[in-house]
Amino acid sequence: MSERIGIEQWLTAEELHRVRQAIERAEQRTSAEIRVHLDITIVEDVLDHAALVFDRLGMDRTKQRNGVLLYVSIPARRAGVICDVGVNAKVPKGYWKSILRTLLNHFRQGGYAQGLCAAVERLGEELAPLFPPADDDDDELSNQVSIGT
Ligand code: CA
Ligand code: CA
Repeated sequence: MSERIGIEQWLTAEELHRVRQAIERAEQRTSAEIRVHLDITIVEDVLDHAALVFDRLGMDRTKQRNGVLLYVSIPARRAGVICDVGVNAKVPKGYWKSILRTLLNHFRQGGYAQGLCAAVERLGEELAPLFPPADDDDDELSNQVSIGT
């Protein structure tokens, strides 16, 4: 009998829901749209793959071009942040490094949900002054955690 590896090896449904709530909270502070994608396979090049997922999720379709993807390969314990052009125009390269470091520190201690929630919260904090919430702010991209196999 072959065992299938699923996301439940790392995060419970309740924990995934907590990450979603963290995204909702972060998006109350900013018009930027944050998504989290978890890959449960080991990918060779994290940033290449993250860019692919960014496209696949249609994250370049926001009005202000301020979509931000937190991409995580859980088994590889590697993560990257991919942003649309509107965000990249406002932050220097490598801007998200310390957030990723915090995330991976949590991961090392087995705190997957804690790490993801903390990273999302920090993203919201950083994005708030750059893209303050608009009066007619829409939820342009789903807050649901995206899971790849
Ligand atoms: Ca929004
Ligand atoms: Ca959203």
